[in-house]
Amino acid sequence: MNRIWDVAVAGGGVIGLAVAYELVKAGCSVVIVERGPLHGEAVAAAAGMLGAEAEAHQGDDFFRLCLFSRSLYRSWAAELEARSSVSIEYRAEGIIRAALDEEEEQELRARGERIPGAVWMDGDGLRRIEPELSPDVRGGYFFADDHQVHPVRLAEALRLASAGLGVRFREHTPVLGILTENGRAVGLRTTDGDVFAEAVVVAAGAWSSALLQTIGVRLPVEPVKGQCYALSPDRPVIRKTVYTRGCYIVPKADGSLWIGATQEYAGFDKTPTAAAVAELHQVASALLPVIRRARFVATWAGLRPGTPDGLPWIGPIEELPGLFVAAGHFRNGILLAPATGRLLREMMLGEPLSHPIDCCSPNRTKREERRP
Ligand SMILES: Cc1cc2nc3c(=O)[nH]c(=O)nc-3n(C[C@H](O)[C@H](O)[C@H](O)COP(=O)(O)OP(=O)(O)OC[C@H]3O[C@@H](n4cnc5c(N)ncnc54)[C@H](O)[C@@H]3O)c2cc1C
Repeated sequence: MNRIWDVAVAGGGVIGLAVAYELVKAGCSVVIVERGPLHGEAVAAAAGMLGAEAEAHQGDDFFRLCLFSRSLYRSWAAELEARSSVSIEYRAEGIIRAALDEEEEQELRARGERIPGAVWMDGDGLRRIEPELSPDVRGGYFFADDHQVHPVRLAEALRLASAGLGVRFREHTPVLGILTENGRAVGLRTTDGDVFAEAVVVAAGAWSSALLQTIGVRLPVEPVKGQCYALSPDRPVIRKTVYTRGCYIVPKADGSLWIGATQEYAGFDKTPTAAAVAELHQVASALLPVIRRARFVATWAGLRPGTPDGLPWIGPIEELPGLFVAAGHFRNGILLAPATGRLLREMMLGEPLSHPIDCCSPNRTKREERRP
């Protein structure tokens, strides 16, 4: 007879892994069913910024959720490193959000008024923090608490830590649909047979909508292509992440600079293009002219899971007891991984919530709007 797991997770990206990790720590038996290799999609393309403030547009509930997740990070990273012996390369250096022209200055200043604690600095002030910033930088914000990690190392640490606690993985096994019985979700239908579970989590990133559609639930998640490239300067040129409109430059522990990212609505195509790299490089070298001499290393692209309002879907699907979703983390899936794992576990196990998460409820759109 087939085993019945406590939880079956569809999708082994950073979100599926974070959810599985939190659930196994709480004593659940968990299996992750992954179409490809683990952590091979959006997480493998991400820059790793924990940009709760740098990415914020207003001081709303979602902003507070991002701050909450950021506040969990340092101890979460240490715990994962201890369990996995993988360094996540947590760097507590902060992000400079800089304006290169008047239009961006106005836009950033207006945004800063809506973000509690944001203090405008002039260009010279920012250049005292990062001397290689262009003389054209007019000013901006320094978000000292927006740190960064290495996303693939984070995902690998999650995999090893989860495996050590008993999570099992079925890689190269596409999930075809969600099994239902008597009005409940009871498992996953896969290319390698049925996987039965008391509860099911859809964490399939940009592919989540297709899975939910198989049982008639419409939660829009759309792929948003992001292209990046990496350079290797012959000496370290920045310590902080520097970020301007349409481009950020993230210094990594190996001395490379990860530069991204485009935001393209191009379906599921992940092909990197010369035009995108050229455009990114133009902005990046306007922000940090010293990179013009750096060695080119690589280019890559990934698909962010986007939603109509830019916020993820995290929580139960009310139409089908036993079914939960954690998808649509768009530009912030690395940042939001610890909060998503913890809060979804709390919801699934009926524990008190350690932070409100209504803004990400799958039920925030009207039920009838989600029907096909
Ligand atoms: C260029 C770029 C830069 C980014 N930078 C940052 C950043 O600096 N900071 C930040 O916080 N976020 C960043 N992000 C966003 C972040 O990467 C995503 O929000 C996050 O990785 C989403 O994680 P996920 O697990 O939901 O999706 P994914 O990592 O895409 O994982 C979903 C998994 O589900 C699997 N799957 C899909 N369909 C099926 C199926 N039918 N059966 C089984 N498995 C299936 C996929 O193969 C995949 O492994 C960036 C993204 C991109 C593309």
